[in-house]
Amino acid sequence: MIIRHEDEAWQPQTQAIRVGHHPTNEGEHGEPIFTTSSFMFESAEQAAARFSGAEPGNIYARFTNPTTKIFEDRLAALEGGECCVATGSGMAAILSTFMALCSAGDEVVVARQVFGTTSVLFNKYLAKFGLKIKWVNLTDRVGWEAAISDLTRWVFVETPSNPLTEVVDIAWLAELAHRHGAGLIVDNCFCTPILQQPLALGADIVIHSATKYLDGQGRAIGGAVVGDQARVGEEVRGFLRTCGPSMAPFNAWIFAKGLETLSLRMKAHTAHASAVAAFLLAHPAVKKVHYPGLADHPQAEIIARQQQGGGGIVSFELHGGRTAAWQVINGTRMLSITANLGDAKTTITHPASTTHGRLTPAQRAEAGIDDGLIRLAIGLEDPRDIIRDLRLGLDQAAG
Ligand SMILES: *Cc1c(COP(=O)(O)O)cnc(C)c1O
Repeated sequence: MIIRHEDEAWQPQTQAIRVGHHPTNEGEHGEPIFTTSSFMFESAEQAAARFSGAEPGNIYARFTNPTTKIFEDRLAALEGGECCVATGSGMAAILSTFMALCSAGDEVVVARQVFGTTSVLFNKYLAKFGLKIKWVNLTDRVGWEAAISDLTRWVFVETPSNPLTEVVDIAWLAELAHRHGAGLIVDNCFCTPILQQPLALGADIVIHSATKYLDGQGRAIGGAVVGDQARVGEEVRGFLRTCGPSMAPFNAWIFAKGLETLSLRMKAHTAHASAVAAFLLAHPAVKKVHYPGLADHPQAEIIARQQQGGGGIVSFELHGGRTAAWQVINGTRMLSITANLGDAKTTITHPASTTHGRLTPAQRAEAGIDDGLIRLAIGLEDPRDIIRDLRLGLDQAAG
């Protein structure tokens, strides 16, 4: 049996590579993929002990699998959480959390600026089971103070938001929630634990769509919930055990390997996005640039306190509205016209006609989604080539 020792003092870059892999008797250096649905026992006595919980260990891969555990232990270490539960998608992570931790009649307060499908989950499905949902604009401090009361069970936010990269002060919101006996859940998809650690800032639970930066190459769908043993380790895993929105071991292997390069990638995404944001700011066709790394971001002071970098998402508005936006998108030759993000490949999206296309013009105006808005998820290509590709359409739009 080969034993390598884990160390509490490890830096994130080391945790992401070394945590969680305990070689089998074969001494394999790479993380193995356990493609098995169930696990065997040495005796009837051991089987009984495993099922009763008297002895820890694997039973059935709906709720534990050694490959999935490598990913879970690595992500828990990076987020600074007691434990992590991997799920079949980011949406399954949000669903599992609220199904496990809420009952009919509970009130939750949610930021309006969350991922579109997350809004549908709350409005169409969780509401059907009696969850009471209040919506607040992410940057509206007075709104949060008015909405959160002693009736509130959970507060849910994404920061920075999609696509306008607005942020909320996590420490302030956690304190406000806790004062009313509520908990704070943060979807940390955009920053990842490399750029932002919500638990250290006071949040109770972190949600991930592993599909995005944790994978980093757009290969698989997955999600995760990170938090304390009682609520995540027992309650959320208990929901997974019973209801089954679990991560497949092959996907867990992809995400575990993805984490090994996460720190390097997030630094590169940030550097490339900063270069693109600077280029866009100087271009005459561009009216406004939204990027958390800019000194004139409306919440630059909060960002400086809680983020270790701007990340890879840059949005910008064109003077020429939708015509100019489509001209820029159609003028590119390399960038991928798709709504996905967190990939090595840069993607370009027109939110008003795609991700936010089902909103009415009035709702879009309220959400700040201008017809001339473009969202970029900056990838790992050489930033000079990304800029060259954007310039093709932008020069036309500036006409
Ligand atoms: C993509 C995304 C989700 C949903 O994740 P899936 O893995 O696609 O189910 C949730 N939150 C945010 C912020 C996302 O970008």
